[in-house]
Amino acid sequence: MVLEIGPEELAQILRDVQDLDTCIFGLQREIEELPDKHHLGELAEALSAVRQEQASDEKSLEEIEHKQHKLDGELDMLVTKMKKEEEKLFSGTIMNPKELSAIQAEIFSLRKKRDEMETEDLEEMEEIDRLTGEFSSARSRTAEIEAGERQAKDAYEVELAEKKAEIASLELRRDNLKVRLSEDIVADYNKMLKEKAGLAVVPIVQGRTCGGCHIDFSRTQIDQFQHNEGIFRCEYCRRILVK
Ligand SMILES: [Zn+2]
Repeated sequence: MVLEIGPEELAQILRDVQDLDTCIFGLQREIEELPDKHHLGELAEALSAVRQEQASDEKSLEEIEHKQHKLDGELDMLVTKMKKEEEKLFSGTIMNPKELSAIQAEIFSLRKKRDEMETEDLEEMEEIDRLTGEFSSARSRTAEIEAGERQAKDAYEVELAEKKAEIASLELRRDNLKVRLSEDIVADYNKMLKEKAGLAVVPIVQGRTCGGCHIDFSRTQIDQFQHNEGIFRCEYCRRILVK
């Protein structure tokens, strides 16, 4: 039930409702800025970068390990072949000097190849060591950033809950005031609030200027304020004016 209220009380209620809405909008803006405040975007970016680095290290490591495994297999085959040739050479069954020198040449060439492959193998092992180190450092950085992100998210959740609770309490106070206003005034207020970026009710500054659009009123409108009580409309921006 809406009780009849006087013009001064009406103006006061509208002022209070606007003040509460202004506070609510302020808190909503603060909520929007919370992720920035807690660097959540930056942390997510850093995390994605370090995870990418970790994945790329892991891939390189897998590739080189595969390569090394293949090389080890080839090296085994080569050594077996070399041993066979050496056995042949020292078996005493081959007497033909041409054949013997061919075997010697083959052994020589196999040894050279083996040395090359062993050098390559060593280089690959060094590369594996380096990549393993990089991978483990990326992994610990990932863990570090993840922990930081969790902490920041927890702090964000706490602040978010606090602000939401504050908003709910302001909304309750505002709605308790609004029930005292007529439906028409509430509809008008809501419409202006939406159209005027959250500022529907403004004061008449020094009896002659609109507190919303800051334009000086005409003589006619100033006369109106001087001879009446309650609420008015700005002739320029249409906001609700209170003395
Ligand atoms: Zn105005």
